[in-house]
Amino acid sequence: MDYMKLKLAIQKSGRLHDDSIKLLKECGIDISNGANKLRTEATNFPLEVFFLRDDDIPQYVEDGVADIGFVGENVVYEKNKKIEIVDKLGYGRCRLSIAIGRGQKYESVQYLQNRKIATSYPLLVKEFLKKNNINAEIHEISGSVEIAPGIGLADAICDIVSSGSTLFMNGLKEVETVMKSQAILIRNPALKEDELKILHKLLFRIQSVKKAKNNKYVLLNAPNDKLDAIVKILPGMKSPTILPLAESGWSSVHSVISENDFWNVIESLKANGAQGILIVPIEKMII
Ligand code: ATP
Ligand code: MG
Repeated sequence: MDYMKLKLAIQKSGRLHDDSIKLLKECGIDISNGANKLRTEATNFPLEVFFLRDDDIPQYVEDGVADIGFVGENVVYEKNKKIEIVDKLGYGRCRLSIAIGRGQKYESVQYLQNRKIATSYPLLVKEFLKKNNINAEIHEISGSVEIAPGIGLADAICDIVSSGSTLFMNGLKEVETVMKSQAILIRNPALKEDELKILHKLLFRIQSVKKAKNNKYVLLNAPNDKLDAIVKILPGMKSPTILPLAESGWSSVHSVISENDFWNVIESLKANGAQGILIVPIEKMII
């Protein structure tokens, strides 16, 4: 099976398209992305890429037309297809929220009792209402959801929000978060051994790229009598590297720190005598 290729579905155009292509590039996978192409093949990895509407990706992956897909969690949960979630991809972050007219008084989710909610996510809204014991009418529309209250179609909406500026421009305010979402990697549950091998190779690369993004390489100088304290703050992958400086009594310390507690670590390094701190991005991280 020398010619076996894994078939990947990504969004044709829209909010996830560019970052999906970028992730493949960062994984060292070259695809020619000619305008209006519906499919293409990677030149240096056994991957065929289909460009689709994001709504259709879960169905294609369930049917096995595509083996895997990059798609928003919101779409995956709404479509509720028989697919498996492999990993989160770290881009396309947004939330699915309920919003109402800015002038309305909102105290609790009870506000929604017996109201009309416009959304493109009927299943997720239904689950949210059920969980909160609310009876409300769901009005499904496929786009421009945010104008529904203004034209008298609904009392509230449930839609994707990231900065909130679209809501603001339409005179709405966000009152409940139904779910948080980001792009995820999904797969057909019945992949064959050869297909799984390619998937694991791709996944290994994706995880190396993700880890690198979440970590920074740090270099600093410190007087030798401060090294113990500094090493305690910097665990590193195994332990930090310590090299003597030309000036006696001083060392250079190299390590990797996580983006999560980045500023706290830098502040305590400084407080413990570190000087000349350099922070360098990591391109790939293989551990
Ligand atoms: P398609 O034509 O493929 O159906 P669409 O119009 O349904 O596209 P987009 O607006 O491109 O969808 O959004 C695609 C996905 O990107 C959403 O389902 C969500 O997961 C994510 N997303 C939406 N809005 C944002 C945002 N503002 N920031 C980041 N990610 C977002
Ligand atoms: Mg869509």
